[in-house]
Amino acid sequence: MNMHTPLLLTPGPLTTADSTRAAMGRDWGSREPDFIALTQALRQLLLATAGAPPGYVAVPLQGSGTYAIEATLATLLKAQECLLVMSNGAYARRIVDIARRMGREVRVIEFDECEELDACSLDAALAADPRISHVAVVHGETSSGRINRIEPIAAVVAAHGRALLVDAMSTFGAIPVELAGSPIAALVASCNKCLEGVPGIAFAIVRSADLVRSEGHSSSLSLDLHAQWRSFEENGQWRFTPPVQVVAACVEALRLHAAEGGVGARHARYTARTKRLLEAMAGFGIEALLPKATRGPCIVAFRVPADLSARLERVIVHLREEGIAIYPGKLTAAETFRIGCMGVFDEQAWQRFFDCFRAGLSLVGWTPAATSSVPA
Ligand SMILES: *Cc1c(COP(=O)(O)O)cnc(C)c1O
Repeated sequence: MNMHTPLLLTPGPLTTADSTRAAMGRDWGSREPDFIALTQALRQLLLATAGAPPGYVAVPLQGSGTYAIEATLATLLKAQECLLVMSNGAYARRIVDIARRMGREVRVIEFDECEELDACSLDAALAADPRISHVAVVHGETSSGRINRIEPIAAVVAAHGRALLVDAMSTFGAIPVELAGSPIAALVASCNKCLEGVPGIAFAIVRSADLVRSEGHSSSLSLDLHAQWRSFEENGQWRFTPPVQVVAACVEALRLHAAEGGVGARHARYTARTKRLLEAMAGFGIEALLPKATRGPCIVAFRVPADLSARLERVIVHLREEGIAIYPGKLTAAETFRIGCMGVFDEQAWQRFFDCFRAGLSLVGWTPAATSSVPA
């Protein structure tokens, strides 16, 4: 690893591979054949990474993940259609906000931030309201680190003949979502989380049948997945100026993902990191917010011990001085901080983070009230 690279233990953007950043070191004409081929490679690698069966297409879009979610909702929902959002966190609430702002009718089933999404209440809601055409769910709630199980939700959505939209932003590439035989109309993600690419493009893996009938739905010119897809199919080009260097970097990141062994290998790498992280934090007397069964390996939220609360910011500043970034929590109920296990860094960097965290804790004079285990 390049020692000048900051260690970004955040929800993204992340520490990337040298070759991913190096891929940005040249210019591309966006309408030249070599860039059209690069875009084609990007779309194919995204489909392969998703394990998408025939009948799905990859539609990349300029911007961050939220742009792709907004484009997906605007394109797949007709003006008079109704969306139901299964919500247990900030990113589900963002979907609600987006859909409301574009004037779509929205229903929400709200759960506690640490609670499981209940498929029975979804079943009742869909039975009661035939106007609901689409259901949206967040796979990995990045705010809590919780993984929402897609299968039980998908089974209910399929039984009622509705369509499912999945925000897989912080899981895509590390935790699979089964598309074959599913009611999933779109799986939306971006390249700068588990794919370890750079920020600047997001994408949706969309069922072609849904795209075909969505012409003219979006009231936005640029956030229109149907028009974006038509352009790729017709001449291989992006409709508006693409971030060419970002595309090149993301293709390299996707190649590295495949070379590593794909989704399974990435899941294993993050899981091993998470295990070490939990051991180290337990040694400091700091507990994870969620139990193992619901916690994902990509980002972990920890409870801030009450007597550390006022001093945590100083610890974060100490880490920053050492070139390491961690983020405070994003929950309304519990005070937390989050540590991302994604990105390109080695065992030595991980150990250095633990050492710097320990040093930060002693700098603010904090010692856990009672610790049983010692960090590895
Ligand atoms: C990162 C993320 C997004 C998109 O955030 P952007 O800042 O727009 O990239 C959406 N949903 C989830 C669950 C995320 O983790």
